[in-house]
Amino acid sequence: MNLENSAIPVPTFPSDRRSFLRLAAVVGTVAAMQPVVRGMGQAAKSDFLSASRAAAARTPIRITQLASNVHLLQGYGGNMTVQTGPDGKVLIDCSYMPAAPRILEALNTLSKDPAATLINSHWHVDHVDGNQPMHEAGFRILAHAKTRERLMTPQSIALLHLSLPAYPSPAWPVTTFDQSLTLWRNGDQLTLSHYASAHTDTDIYIHFHNANVLHVADIWFNGVYPLIDESSGGNIDGMIHASSQALALADNHTKIVPGHGPLGTRQQLSDYHSMLSTVRDRVAALKKSGLTEKEAIARKPTASLDAKWGKGGMTPDVFTGIVYRTVRV
Ligand SMILES: [Zn+2]
Ligand SMILES: [Zn+2]
Repeated sequence: MNLENSAIPVPTFPSDRRSFLRLAAVVGTVAAMQPVVRGMGQAAKSDFLSASRAAAARTPIRITQLASNVHLLQGYGGNMTVQTGPDGKVLIDCSYMPAAPRILEALNTLSKDPAATLINSHWHVDHVDGNQPMHEAGFRILAHAKTRERLMTPQSIALLHLSLPAYPSPAWPVTTFDQSLTLWRNGDQLTLSHYASAHTDTDIYIHFHNANVLHVADIWFNGVYPLIDESSGGNIDGMIHASSQALALADNHTKIVPGHGPLGTRQQLSDYHSMLSTVRDRVAALKKSGLTEKEAIARKPTASLDAKWGKGGMTPDVFTGIVYRTVRV
């Protein structure tokens, strides 16, 4: 579906360059944010993708062990999880295209197991841009059916003023599912399940049962206000529901991989879920009282939360606007 010409309202977010750069950095990691912000010139809006790809090319991949054969990989772009073993590597997400050689090198240091399956957690460019080189390295791509649809057609992310052409066929998932799927790999059971529309309409979680690792993807930006992509069906109520689903799967020992930010705990996810619910309730009350989006933002409904959650790429005002536009009242 080409969203460029659809009837999606254009978000009224601050259009000055500083605000845009802060927002654009949301899809990088917090640690890698500053270099790309400094590196972006006047043509920031049209160069978003090339700047992000350049940042990904120069960002090293950090490896954190989560279980005996499961590791977290963090570079520029979304967090990645990999399971190794005799059935072949199962990788979740693959950042921007130029990061592929670094990711493959990192995978090679973990084990010599062959490439097997690449799972796309959702369609966003900071998670799937490397699909083609990963396919060429031997991975078969698996995703929700809507991820395949979106990668086969031009897309846009209105909030970032980003338009993307369709990806070529080697980047398309070759196995898709609608609700949920179980993989039995490398001695573990992996449950893949689609959330209802939350961050986008393509989001899934991946649960490694024996390893007690839960990759929740972009329904969680650990420690900051999240990006919700309303042009792909994302909405605040869905984010709250999805984070509840994730909480129900986790215990106090579960290693929870957010889409962005540091590895998390159940307590941190619970705090985030509470924050989302609080913001939702406050903004819904303002909307219900008849205030316009601009008036609601001016009331600063997130003020008491901003010191803790407002330091990421998503400013309190932009986040309030997204919540206002997508909340059901
Ligand atoms: Zn992301
Ligand atoms: Zn995303």
